[in-house]
Amino acid sequence: MLINREIEWKIKKLRQKSFEHANKSGKLLAWQLKKRKELNTINKIEVEGEVKSNPKEIRKAFLDFYRGLYKNSEKNNLRKIEKYLKGKNIQKIPLLEKESLNALIETDEIKEIIKDLKKGKAPGPDGFTGSYYKEMETILLIPLQEVMNNILKERELPETWKEALITLIPKQHSDLQQVKNYRPISLLNLDYKIFAGILARRLKKILIKSIHKDQAGFLPGRYMKDNIRNVVNIIEYLSDRCDKQAMLLFVDAEKAFDNLIWDFMLKQLEFMEVGTKFYNGVKAIYTEQKAKLIINGVETSEMRIAKGTRQGCPLSPLLFIMVLEVLLNSIRGNRGIKGISVGQNEYKTKAFADDLVITMEDPINSTKEVLEEFDQFGKVAGFKVNKKKTKIIVKNMETDKVEELQNATEIEVTRKVKYLGIWVTSKNMDLFKNNYETTWKGVKKDIETWGRLKMSFWGRIATIKMSVLPKMLFLFQNIPVIRGLKIFKEWQKVISKFIWQGKKPRIQFKLLTDVKERGGFALPDLKLYYEASCLCWVKTWIKLEDKEVLDLEGFNTRFGWHAYLWHGKRKAHRGFENHIFRGSLIEVWERNKDLLEPKTPHWLSPLEVMSVKKINMGDNWPTYEQLLTKEEGKWKLKPYDQIKEKVYDWLHYFQLNGMFRKDFTDKGYTDKESRFQIEILNNNHRILSKMYNQLLGWNLIDEEVKSVAIHWARDIGHNIYAEEWEKLWKTHLKFTACVSLKENLMKMFYRWYLTPVKLAKMYGTCNKCWKCREREGSFFHMWWECQKVKEFWEGVYNELKKILRYTFVKKPEAFLLGLVGREIKKKDHRFFQYATSAGRILIAQNWKSENMPTIEEWRAKLLEYAEMDKMTGKIRYSKDQRFIEEWENFTNYLENLSEGQITLVGFKGAL
Ligand SMILES: [Zn+2]
Repeated sequence: MLINREIEWKIKKLRQKSFEHANKSGKLLAWQLKKRKELNTINKIEVEGEVKSNPKEIRKAFLDFYRGLYKNSEKNNLRKIEKYLKGKNIQKIPLLEKESLNALIETDEIKEIIKDLKKGKAPGPDGFTGSYYKEMETILLIPLQEVMNNILKERELPETWKEALITLIPKQHSDLQQVKNYRPISLLNLDYKIFAGILARRLKKILIKSIHKDQAGFLPGRYMKDNIRNVVNIIEYLSDRCDKQAMLLFVDAEKAFDNLIWDFMLKQLEFMEVGTKFYNGVKAIYTEQKAKLIINGVETSEMRIAKGTRQGCPLSPLLFIMVLEVLLNSIRGNRGIKGISVGQNEYKTKAFADDLVITMEDPINSTKEVLEEFDQFGKVAGFKVNKKKTKIIVKNMETDKVEELQNATEIEVTRKVKYLGIWVTSKNMDLFKNNYETTWKGVKKDIETWGRLKMSFWGRIATIKMSVLPKMLFLFQNIPVIRGLKIFKEWQKVISKFIWQGKKPRIQFKLLTDVKERGGFALPDLKLYYEASCLCWVKTWIKLEDKEVLDLEGFNTRFGWHAYLWHGKRKAHRGFENHIFRGSLIEVWERNKDLLEPKTPHWLSPLEVMSVKKINMGDNWPTYEQLLTKEEGKWKLKPYDQIKEKVYDWLHYFQLNGMFRKDFTDKGYTDKESRFQIEILNNNHRILSKMYNQLLGWNLIDEEVKSVAIHWARDIGHNIYAEEWEKLWKTHLKFTACVSLKENLMKMFYRWYLTPVKLAKMYGTCNKCWKCREREGSFFHMWWECQKVKEFWEGVYNELKKILRYTFVKKPEAFLLGLVGREIKKKDHRFFQYATSAGRILIAQNWKSENMPTIEEWRAKLLEYAEMDKMTGKIRYSKDQRFIEEWENFTNYLENLSEGQITLVGFKGAL
């Protein structure tokens, strides 16, 4: 007796996962597993109205069903196939690519696939696992290579490679007495999978170029969300163009993978002229296939498989989309089928593997043609449309026309279609209600159930991560249509209540979301995941590469995309946000723009901002990165000669320069590429989680600020209000152009300087103050309380009173952080910042020495600053009234002090 390996492995994997990722949510998993096990034994099966419970009869029922399914009844069809393919202008493979497709298999290719084998995956019928191949690689490599190359040369497959074991997984929420409600899962030997994997890698390189972008399945860099984006965008466009009668046909193909006719696929390969060796490889696989079913742990007798792409084989999805592409190309080229036109573009087909949607104007005539295409293709390739499950959504059609359409096609026109997991209707307004609201309702119910399971705190957090996040994230990534922040607060409330089991939260929600390395709990923040998803979408607007998407999504915009992103044109054109995606995306973009790009970014294209908007984007505008150059440390536009191909003429060049100057003065130009540009824009790998982590980091900066603020409050002896801190960031930090002064203030605030106490903790050194050598050298002692430091600040304080000629209270926050209020006259604020900065910089310069700076040194430093300030002022204005006002007291003081001995060359003169 055999055990049901696939199931057993799934359970093992689940246990493994629970151990690795969420060891504390065992209860939830135990519950899920129990449910699963109950489902996996097949006790009763209905055959022709009779319920059978005898194991033998159950096995027979399944075997009969699958024998019928995999039998090819279409015989001697070759001539028809050939005739069909001849009429379809099948593209031949370019010579160079043909060579690599047909090369003999190298050991390195085998190694690469073995490296990618997953360790935890189920073994094949022969029982060998991925780990086995990894361990035995050196011994197996050469024999494997020989076997594989022999197939390419002789077309002979080892007997064991022809066999598969099929296990059955019940479909959720279905009648499990019906044979058809079990999903077959094939297990193939790993050595076979390695072979097929090598052919798949080779074929993929060719298909990525030859298969139209409309097919999003199984090829790298293509995503399901692009299809949903397209469908929703088309509905949005049609809502605006009510003059266009149109429809969307959501095609359901009956077991499309299982019905594919081998002869058609092989003939197509011949037409493509794929080359002998590759053809031999595929032909060897698709000549003879056998399988046994495993039912309740027992193997059935063998059956033949004579059609369909091979389940569980890495090559099969590619072969499938390759075959389907013949149909899609035929539809694209059929003039009788009128796609949705936007300017010169026509939007007709979108596919995600066998999931097709066809969007058409002139519905009745177009559909007739489409059905004809299906029929012709279906007869030769084994493609069957299930008319009962195929649905139509119409736009701008009168009732009688709708009826006519229904009668002509025998396909139901409906209000609501589930397309790739998203409920779509003819009104995009419904997207939120039909998807977010219903999903959340389910989540809430689940959460209530889990709440009764008495899980641990960690278990509850892991449950949110494993069971709630994926559902919501799916919606975020596919339909980012949420406006405002209200809904996130509602969701957060439910999650928070679950996590704290209705009790008062002991840790702030925000801190729970922090990564574990920083002491957080990595609880997912749904709002940030949503924003991350949106920002990944905005990437399309920034990169300007995907013109088909941009033309459709921006069919009625008035300016270039970058004008909305960077020059705030949303305000000039309110209609921009009057679009299901644009409105929510621009909202999120503007919320995060300053964090992502504090200065004018390299990716910005000034010509996209300036250019006159056309319905179809034709031009490839250059970015600042391509237009600017750095000379003597300053960014400027490259000379006309170097970029004349990129601009129209001199005038254009001149305007460009003007725009750069404006961007430069408004926001400055960033020297280095931002993290956003590096990780998200110029990268395609795991960008969502990278984006989430960036947002999470920023979201938590506040927390760091708070914890530092608490330290300061403790030292100073009273609280500093949030508004005062804010003033520090917003105004005080800007008092000077000098970077080192700003840096000092930042370092003071974040308590950057390493004190004896800190060093003692780190290295076990003496923790006594370096100045007095008596007290513990804490941060506040080193900056304020130490007797020696106190004397220095007292000196500065006395001089300041002389300079300002009034008295004020000596407060540590004023001297150490520049936090002053009314005690210092407004006109003296800037001077006061310089004066205290000078003191702090001197202390920092003498940080580890036992000496303190003198008042003379302080005076000299301050004079230095005055001259520097004058210099920066002088560049801007010839006679700087403000400068005179701010420094007059100080110069008078210096003159009196020196009694003529200090000569203020140039300085006094400038006043
Ligand atoms: Zn001291």
